[in-house]
Amino acid sequence: MIIVMNGKTNDSDLDNLVNKLNEMGHEVNIIRGEKRIVVGVIGDVENLVSVPLYAFTGVEEVIRIMKPYKLASREFKNTNTTVKVKGVTIGGKEVILMAGPCVVENEQQIFKTARQVKALGAKVLRGGAFKPRTSPYSFQGLGEKGLKLLAEAGKENGLAIVTEVMSVNQIDLVAEYTDIFQVGARNMQNFVLLKELGKTKKPVLLKRGVSAFLEELLLSAEYILSQGNSKVILCERGIRTFENYTRNTLDLSAVPALKQLSHLPVIVDPSHGTGRWKLVSPMAKAAIAAGADGLIIEVHPEPKSSLSDGVQTLKFDTFTQLVKELKPIIQAVGREFDLP
Ligand code: PEP
Ligand code: MN
Repeated sequence: MIIVMNGKTNDSDLDNLVNKLNEMGHEVNIIRGEKRIVVGVIGDVENLVSVPLYAFTGVEEVIRIMKPYKLASREFKNTNTTVKVKGVTIGGKEVILMAGPCVVENEQQIFKTARQVKALGAKVLRGGAFKPRTSPYSFQGLGEKGLKLLAEAGKENGLAIVTEVMSVNQIDLVAEYTDIFQVGARNMQNFVLLKELGKTKKPVLLKRGVSAFLEELLLSAEYILSQGNSKVILCERGIRTFENYTRNTLDLSAVPALKQLSHLPVIVDPSHGTGRWKLVSPMAKAAIAAGADGLIIEVHPEPKSSLSDGVQTLKFDTFTQLVKELKPIIQAVGREFDLP
């Protein structure tokens, strides 16, 4: 349930309402705007039916949300959420590029990539240190050494960093280095992990599970939001369908759909979404045209020697060409792109 109060409501009138809601066993989430104050009431609101909420001073409207996710919904907050990290704003007018290798392999690889993507306008450096590989015999990542290298390469180039956290017991370690936690597709419904990330203050890039409905993705975001962390970025990265030419089917209709259903920023990963480097640029451009707030793209100095996902990884020259081709599209959809 959402209770909309007049923006001029004073603190004691707001407290009166909140105290009543708490007394009835409800937690609340408050957003203060200039014109209105929105009080989100979480959980089953059946017992509020008999409470005369309109009688409380300042209350203008009481809306029952029928969607199972509340804090993530556009009904709860109808202005776009922007996630700010290290001077980067995700979800604003500017289109944000996140780029880097699938996995951090060594110092030379990550520093070379960081310098290159920075020069092309990327704002966030990606790279896995803990990798969720399908086979236990595949390279699993460098762990803390990988985190260190990624953080150093980010620092040298003034880039924020994003890296995956796979389990609750990795949160503290990953938090020491990263600016943004990445929750991978395989962990989208690891609810224990989501709840713990909800207790941190760092942004979370939440990737869609391979068989997840949009509603399930938004409910996973709700797990993080409901613990107090409002910095969630949604990521469409392709879903599994009967088509097997592509690694996944990149569901670009998810972008406008998520934008309509939710206020959270939405980015697209055309690398995992297609699994083929030749399809990455066309789908990256299509994603921006569809309204994505940014892209996360795998880039490596030499994809053929990459320890993971080389077939879907762009080289510096193909990434350079992509950025060039993206610019007119960014402009055409009324967005901005900030070159260094
Ligand atoms: C990744 O981005 O490195 C990754 C493993 O992606 P996903 O979780 O979407 O498969
Ligand atoms: Mn990868």
